[in-house]
Amino acid sequence: MGVFNHPEFDHHESIHFFEDPGSGLKAIIAVHSTSLGPAAGGCRRWTYASDDAALTDVLRLSRGMTYKNAVAGLPFGGGKAVILAADRAPKTRELFETFGQAVDSLNGRYITAEDVGISVDDMHTVRSRTPYVSGLPQSGANAGGDPSPWTALGVFHGIEAAAATRLGADSLEGITVAVQGVGHVGVYLCKLLHEAGARLIVADVNSENLRSTCEQVPAEVVDPRDIVFADADILAPCALGNVLNSETIPRIRAKVVAGAANNQLASADDGMRLTESGILYAPDYVINAGGVISVAHEYLGNSTEERVRSEVCRIPERLRQIFADAESSGRPTNAIADELARAIVDRGNPREDQIQATEDRRIA
Ligand code: NAD
Repeated sequence: MGVFNHPEFDHHESIHFFEDPGSGLKAIIAVHSTSLGPAAGGCRRWTYASDDAALTDVLRLSRGMTYKNAVAGLPFGGGKAVILAADRAPKTRELFETFGQAVDSLNGRYITAEDVGISVDDMHTVRSRTPYVSGLPQSGANAGGDPSPWTALGVFHGIEAAAATRLGADSLEGITVAVQGVGHVGVYLCKLLHEAGARLIVADVNSENLRSTCEQVPAEVVDPRDIVFADADILAPCALGNVLNSETIPRIRAKVVAGAANNQLASADDGMRLTESGILYAPDYVINAGGVISVAHEYLGNSTEERVRSEVCRIPERLRQIFADAESSGRPTNAIADELARAIVDRGNPREDQIQATEDRRIA
């Protein structure tokens, strides 16, 4: 597969390939857009079936970050990194130091943070080589660190908005939610849903994560192959992407799909498939923006718990507008969200606080 004619290329500004035999680093950093500010997006460490699969993933994820940051009103463009892990290869300090050097070589055009397969400790190691990193524990009144609880909070409130719109439910009491993947975000989400009175069905391919979640909240456990088709009111994908496709959609019983996973739709057409099946889809990059809202404010140095919370709590407002526009136009929610995001990016206009934050890091 070529790069410029790649189906997911979508006018990426730049794509950077890194290989370092010493540390074993093999990574791709994709910068989709810097129209609104430096490209911000997490780093994913994953064992890919092929280099092409990794390229496809990073391109889709980085474009998603452009749209996510734009709709969330953040002064950042979109980018993403993937570290291609060899099967069962251990994580090492050297790997993340070398990755930090790779990020640093882009001189602030890309800002990294945690994503799947990456911990706060890993980001600490990256910080030893570059200032262009966020998602680190902060001291004093500043909020920061692991973005997952904020992502979960935004998804939770987004689920409430979607349940009100599609199910006419004014609370989640007695509503059944099927959560696919109980990792960093999934477990926090399960706790919030449980506290709100929802009934939980969960699945995970990682038995340790599953066990730990079931110790914290009551949940019915199903086989990972069945969770998408569970008899639930709401499906919350919180594992990996491409779960909504022409094979799965006809078999989904939930009336709402609202979860944290990035790139839930295998293709844009699957948004229409969901609409035609009467399923309300909360566009992934709108509902899962809580984490990036936290890391963005941490990076800008203006992060307090109250500020992050109040911005995360605006996610349902945006979703309600998208749901209303979709309803009145008969168009799928993903198309409405993409249009909104592109309009914001096309206006472009990096904010002053952003320009200052980038300069401060260059000087430091
Ligand atoms: P994570 O790696 O901590 O958790 C993912 C979980 O999904 C793991 O427990 C994994 O075993 C499980 N899983 C993988 N494949 C599965 C399958 N086929 N069936 C069931 N379970 C499966 O990752 P995370 O940080 O919780 O992120 C989850 C998703 O949300 C990802 O798509 C990520 O990109 C997205 N996201 C995360 C954040 C964040 O703040 N962490 C922010 C925005 C979006």
